[in-house]
Amino acid sequence: FLEIRDIKKSFGQGDSFVEVLKGINLEINRGEFCVLLGPSGSGKSTLLNIIGGIDGADSGDICIEGEKMSNMNEKRLTLYRRKHLGYIFQMYNLIPNLTVQENIEVGAYLSDKPLEMEELLRTLGLYDHRKKLPNQLSGGQQQRTAIGRAIIKNPDILLCDEPTGALDYKTSKEILKLIETVNQKYGNTIIMVTHNDAIKDMADRVVRLRDGMIRKNYVNEARVSAQDLEW
Ligand code: ATP
Ligand code: MG
Repeated sequence: FLEIRDIKKSFGQGDSFVEVLKGINLEINRGEFCVLLGPSGSGKSTLLNIIGGIDGADSGDICIEGEKMSNMNEKRLTLYRRKHLGYIFQMYNLIPNLTVQENIEVGAYLSDKPLEMEELLRTLGLYDHRKKLPNQLSGGQQQRTAIGRAIIKNPDILLCDEPTGALDYKTSKEILKLIETVNQKYGNTIIMVTHNDAIKDMADRVVRLRDGMIRKNYVNEARVSAQDLEW
């Protein structure tokens, strides 16, 4: 579904030259929950930004359902970012003068077939808070709102860059659990950078970056067998 082919990326020149990604190859299946690990500076955010079409690679390509990103014209790339891609960050970046529901609606405008609002608000645990402004919410509720804004267009791919970085451990676990629910309910392919160990039982695939290379890439067997038991 998503193929990352020999992606290379460096920044700077002369003394400040850094080769951040030295040839990344990765295949991710549709609906997979993939967690991306690695030390600070290992290029996790850079890789997410390249997958998201926000930053360009120096060489290599991203293929989505067989379509090469390098072959997409400006219009096609814009469409991909708007309709098929959701992004969640550590910072929630909500619009301060819009309510929870209105913030989520911002995401709906980007799609022809947004999810049903009331059901989504209930899934997010925000139904009773839907008329509140961001400054009337806890950090966890603000992140739930940001997740709602990203997910209402039912994107094929949801990129999450340390979505719980600003939250305490317990709230973080709840947010990760919510993203797992979203993955199971709507089938979005998820690529997430996180340092929270609660992710261990949730991820289908675990990828570890170090020194610009993928050092580990394995299917999370524990979770697969847990799923098998459920069936
Ligand atoms: P963290 O866990 O701290 O978020 P990361 O794995 O996400 O780290 P990146 O943000 O991808 O790491 O950065 C990787 C390297 O690339 C760092 O050395 C960073 O300084 C450098 N870098 C990233 N973006 C730029 C840029 N726009 N210009 C110059 N250097 C950059
Ligand atoms: Mg980062």
